[in-house]
Amino acid sequence: MFAEKVYEAVQKELNGTVTLCAVSKRHSIEEIKTAYDLGQRIFGENKAAELVQKAEALPADIEWHFIGHLQRNKVKQILPYVSCIQSLDSVRLAEMIEKEAAAIHKTVDCLLEFHLAESDTNKTGLLPEEAMTMLETCDRLPHVHLVGMMTMGPHTDDAAEIRRVFEAGHTLFQTLQEHSRDIQILSMGMSDDYHLAIEAGSNMVRIGSKLFQE
Ligand SMILES: *Cc1c(COP(=O)(O)O)cnc(C)c1O
Repeated sequence: MFAEKVYEAVQKELNGTVTLCAVSKRHSIEEIKTAYDLGQRIFGENKAAELVQKAEALPADIEWHFIGHLQRNKVKQILPYVSCIQSLDSVRLAEMIEKEAAAIHKTVDCLLEFHLAESDTNKTGLLPEEAMTMLETCDRLPHVHLVGMMTMGPHTDDAAEIRRVFEAGHTLFQTLQEHSRDIQILSMGMSDDYHLAIEAGSNMVRIGSKLFQE
């Protein structure tokens, strides 16, 4: 069920200065339509087939953001539908996006996904020391439009640790911004930690369970 009252309260908090990506993974087309009718246009999905199915069934002015780990063999499938790939995490993936985007004459917005939470093992994402290589890679790929970065907070209740990770994210974001004027989006914060992310400088939050309640 899409929680309309919660949605309105969250949008009021974000106050037009932080962009909401409504994470609709595992939720139905009807629920997304409810959110759409309230004015929501950016939705996040983490499975290729699910994104394609929903995009085909819903209005064309929805901006679909891919937020999950993206396998190279799924790029072609999602590319006609996505407006932003938030989970760019390797040179090889960037090169595949370039190839498939060029084939359909599309330029796609991408965010570099960084893994900053040391306590979380085996998660996907780039290490900060890989940033420069990725920036240089994207510079030579004309259909990959790098517009920012995404990261996740650590799985913990320790607000101080969450804050440290988000502050590290903001610092890295500022470093990336020195490289290009097009880098404007800092996507950090989910249902349980978005307040901390915004305090640290996030300007896009990805909220799912708080909006789409069971
Ligand atoms: C599921 C997911 C979210 C939303 O998480 P909630 O806790 O449901 O708000 C945000 N970002 C990514 C990458 C996700 O996979």
